[in-house]
Amino acid sequence: MQHNLARARACAPGARVWGVLKANGYGHGLERAMRGLADADGLALIEPDNALRLRELGWTKPILLLEGPFDAADVAMMAAHGINGAVHGEEQLALIESARLPAAAKPLNLHLKMNTGMNRLGFKPERFAAAHARLRALPHVGEITLMTHFANADETAHPRLPIGEQVRRFNAGAAGLPGPLSLANSAGIFHMPGAARTLGAELVSDWIRPGIMLYGGSPGGKSAEEFGLLPAMTLSSELISVQDILAGDCVGYGSRFQADGPMRIGVVACGYADGYPRHAPQGTPVLVDGVRTRVVGRVSMDMLTVDLSGLPQARVGSKVVLWGRGMPIDEVATAAGTIGYELMCALAPRVRVVEA
Ligand SMILES: *Cc1c(COP(=O)(O)O)cnc(C)c1O
Repeated sequence: MQHNLARARACAPGARVWGVLKANGYGHGLERAMRGLADADGLALIEPDNALRLRELGWTKPILLLEGPFDAADVAMMAAHGINGAVHGEEQLALIESARLPAAAKPLNLHLKMNTGMNRLGFKPERFAAAHARLRALPHVGEITLMTHFANADETAHPRLPIGEQVRRFNAGAAGLPGPLSLANSAGIFHMPGAARTLGAELVSDWIRPGIMLYGGSPGGKSAEEFGLLPAMTLSSELISVQDILAGDCVGYGSRFQADGPMRIGVVACGYADGYPRHAPQGTPVLVDGVRTRVVGRVSMDMLTVDLSGLPQARVGSKVVLWGRGMPIDEVATAAGTIGYELMCALAPRVRVVEA
């Protein structure tokens, strides 16, 4: 995580970094991610309870709620613990306006969010300045950062919504407004500097918001290795059984795999109850004793089965890497029709975590 955080900084010289650790630190554990990201300038997440937990764990630098407060109690909690939050819509703006905070409360530092085409959260560009003025008028509001979240930061030439158009909308909506900018997620960090140059635009993010890259996952476009990232999480297990099967024999539920000839099958103690995707098809890559082979048959709750054809030495106890060092999570995710983010976040509580 430290290495990956340094990569993020190197891509955006001078920018401050929100280390994003929502969803239990992308599956790595909140406290573990907090320690791994100790050098970040602030930590950003979604869950108000976990923001409070970070304070209890001793995090004294800024904390940002990426979706802002959900109710008045969250606003009070933000004021009491110096937690920043996004403001992304009319209802939330009204919540901030109607907050009755103790006179001694620290002012709320907020990220006013613009919708630049994602159409999930944020004020439309033409309504942004008015929302900004309403926030500025509030005595209990401190610094207002101008924020957006790009729909296609990794595709400079997206046919529907190119990054240039998103940047143009942001610049139009934010024109003349004071305050730092907070624009880029991992994809933006890797792809936007180029995009901004293409436009000839001077778009500098004062804050960057890396998430997936901090854990060594690729945000898309290139592999994590090509981006210079290292995997933070390795999901490993062992073979707990080896079966010799003959032509015509089948493996697992539904007998989905049928052998063409005699072969050996390894049974790995890892299944969908551990967070391995059940929809991983036959052929999904896996490492056994450091050698690449493939998943065969259906993934079950506690086990999955692998082809040991090229692995005559493999036996019960052989080490298996499902993803992480030596087996990029993005490759497994692609085979399974998903993204590394989902695999990381879905790591199940029963998996024993060992810090190496
Ligand atoms: C999750 C999130 C990020 C981090 O995104 P990555 O793609 O993981 O880098 C940044 N900004 C916001 C608003 C987010 O919700």
